[in-house]
Parts: sequence; structure tokens; C-alpha cells
Amino acid sequence: MMYDTIVIGAGIIGASVGYHVARAGGRVAIIDPGMGPVQPTASWASAGGLRAQGRSPAEAAIAHAAQQRWQVLEDELEADMEVRFGGHLHIAENAVQAERIRKRVSEAQDAGIEARLLAEAEIHDIAPGLARAARLACFTPQDGQASPILAARAFLAAAVRLGATLVPQKCASIPVEQGRVSRIVLGDGTSLSARTVVVCTGAWSISMLDALGLRFPLRWRVLQMMTTEAQPGVTLAPTVTGEGRNLSLKQMPDGNYMIGGRWFGNSPDGLLSACPDERHLACQLQTAREVFPAMRHAPVQRTWAGCEAQTIDSLPLIGHSALAGLYLSVGFSNHGFQIAPEIGRLVAQDITDASPDALHPFAPDRFERQVSASRVEAFITETTRLALH
Ligand SMILES: Cc1cc2nc3c(=O)[nH]c(=O)nc-3n(C[C@H](O)[C@H](O)[C@H](O)COP(=O)(O)OP(=O)(O)OC[C@H]3O[C@@H](n4cnc5c(N)ncnc54)[C@H](O)[C@@H]3O)c2cc1C
Repeated sequence: MMYDTIVIGAGIIGASVGYHVARAGGRVAIIDPGMGPVQPTASWASAGGLRAQGRSPAEAAIAHAAQQRWQVLEDELEADMEVRFGGHLHIAENAVQAERIRKRVSEAQDAGIEARLLAEAEIHDIAPGLARAARLACFTPQDGQASPILAARAFLAAAVRLGATLVPQKCASIPVEQGRVSRIVLGDGTSLSARTVVVCTGAWSISMLDALGLRFPLRWRVLQMMTTEAQPGVTLAPTVTGEGRNLSLKQMPDGNYMIGGRWFGNSPDGLLSACPDERHLACQLQTAREVFPAMRHAPVQRTWAGCEAQTIDSLPLIGHSALAGLYLSVGFSNHGFQIAPEIGRLVAQDITDASPDALHPFAPDRFERQVSASRVEAFITETTRLALH
């Protein structure tokens, strides 16, 4: 069968792209051996924070549109994704950080995002268990959290209802024939053909693109997470991050706390595997306890880590590649989950219709003139572990 679109990868990005292509009436096949995110993919490991504030200017409008979309997404996809809107609080603990918070509020407002500057008393009204050191905060009341695993599954299920085909196999190779891509070879040796092949394989994209001679300033890294048990009488409605802190903190629907914040884990064999780094776990927990002392006695419940891809400018690569028929939607680092609903919509539009302006900042060829080969090489080989502090 000839598809309009083959989507390789069914993480949150591929699932959203597949759904939106199907919603636009396209015949789509979504390929992934681990359908509905599995360890150690980014969508499996993700904290699921829905934060529109603090985005790069290139992403701000998309993050704002995604924020609106999340408000209605459970209805649209007819699924429970544990979406909750307690707002997002980004705190400052000293005068220098407070200046940055003011800038952050005005940048969010410029992008149309509802954002408020909160003084100490208001911060503690919204999050009573936070340390008194939190002096000023950027609060975005329409932000929140959702389950990335449930969200990816919901996009896939909705795509299937619209006629999409799920293929629970690995894409073994992408042949280039007469200078273009028009099919993929699956793990069992069979082929699937399509007008457009969309690569959404997260950290696994690097080797896949390398095999096609497509080299980008793209690397992968391991990020780790942990949860602690609930504390009787302690609640935290907003998700919380801190200026100058490696911290993301939220209370989940079951009352437990989830702690992240760009703490790097390990890859035991260096081959896209992931496990938490014990020393970093201790720092991660300590950071959360300092910022939110109300949970300082909560015992650790679970730790895990996942792999994500990152570009040299920390913005994704989205657009047609140099190979006709091959489209890229990869390199989502730090906060790709929040924008996934809009990315899927825009990518579907880009491959079926006119090219949306919103995607231009992410064009895969943007690095060609701007970044020297030596800088790319240094970025790819650089160790991305955080220094302990
Ligand atoms: C620990 C952690 C916490 C995060 N927290 C947040 C957060 O709070 N908020 C937020 O917005 N973002 C967050 N992010 C970022 C966000 O989760 C990622 O940007 C997003 O999940 C990336 O999704 P993806 O679909 O691009 O990649 P992935 O989820 O990694 O999906 C790639 C898929 O490709 C498949 N694949 C690979 N190779 C092949 C192949 N050969 N054939 C077929 N399929 C293949 C894999 O099986 C996988 O399913 C976090 C990321 C991590 C790692």
C-alpha cells in the first residue's frame, strides 16, 4: 500500500504528527517497535510539565497556541491524559534573579501568554509550602501538567480512529533511490512506501540521519527524574521551577511529588541506554527540599532516566531535509512535550499544504552558514554532565 505519509517514531512528537496528518485526511502509517512510549525514550521519561513561559522567542507563539490547545485536548482526543492546570511558578531568590523574572514576565506577555509578576505574599498564597526565600515569581495560571505516556497513547488511538495504521516494528533503513526517499525498510525486511517520510525518532535520529549522510549539530543526552511519596496535609497546585536552580517540581494526581530539572543521568554502555546518576539524585532531592521544605521528609519512591536529542541552539529541527521526500521533526529537548500538539498540527500542514511561517525558525538548513564545522564537532563530543554543586 502507498501511504501519503510514513511517520517513523511514536513518541509524543510522532504520535501528534500522525494524528494531525490523519485528521487532515492523509493516509498515514506510524512506525515504532515500542508503540505508546517505552523506556528509555524521552516521552516515556518526561515530567509532563506544560510550561509556556520561559520559551525561546522562536517558540513562544507555538507554546502559547499549545497552551490553549491543552485546555481542550482531552475532549478532542476523547481520552484522560491527567491534564491539570495549577499554573506554573518560576521563582527568584535574589535581586539579580528578580530582574530576570521581570523580563520573563514581559516576554511571556509579549507572546500573548497570561503571565503575572508575584510578590512574596502572593507566591506563598499560591504555594504555601515553598521556602520563604522565594521573593518574586513569574506565574502563568494557564500552565499545568499532563501524563506524556497517556498523551502519546491518546494521539495514537485518535489517529487510528481516523484511519491511521500503526506498525509495531523498527524502521531498519531508509533507502535513497534516484536522489529521493520514497520508502522505508522495516525490521522484518518488508517495505512501506509513501510520498513523505517524517523522522520523529528523538535521540535515535542521530544515527538514522548519519546513515543518510545528513549531519546536524545534534547530540543526545540522558536526563533523570525522581518521585517522592505524598506528605499528609501538604499540597502544591502549580508546577515550580527556579531561576538559577536545576529544578522542576510538581505534585502528581496521586499526591506524590515529581522532581526533575535538567539533572543528567548515565548511559552505562554509551548506546542510548539510560539510568540515574546516584550523586545527581542526591543533589536533585536536596534542591527540591530547599525550595519546597514542606516535602523534606517525603521518602524517595522511584527514580528513572531517559534519552533526548538536543541541537546546538536547543531548538528542534523541523522541515524538509536535503533529501526529497524526507521530512524531519527531531531535536526536541527540555520542553518538547508542551508544544507537541501544535508541532503535530504545523508539521501536518507543512507536508500537506503551505509552509507555516511559525516553522521557519526551525528549518534544518539553518546551521549551514551560521555554525562552523569545528563548533559542531565540539558540541557533539562535549560532555553534557552537570557539574556537581
Ligand atoms: C527526563 C525528561 C523530562 C522532561 N520533562 C519535560 C517537561 O516537563 N515538559 C516538556 O514539555 N518536555 C519535557 N521533556 C522533553 C520532552 O519529553 C521531549 O521533548 C519529547 O518527549 C520528545 O519526544 P519525541 O517524540 O521527539 O522523542 P521520543 O519520545 O524519544 O520518541 C522517539 C521514538 O522514536 C522511536 N524510534 C527510535 N528509533 C526508531 C526506529 N528505527 N524505528 C521506529 N521507531 C524508532 C522510539 O521507540 C521512540 O518511541 C523532558 C524530557 C526528559 C528526557
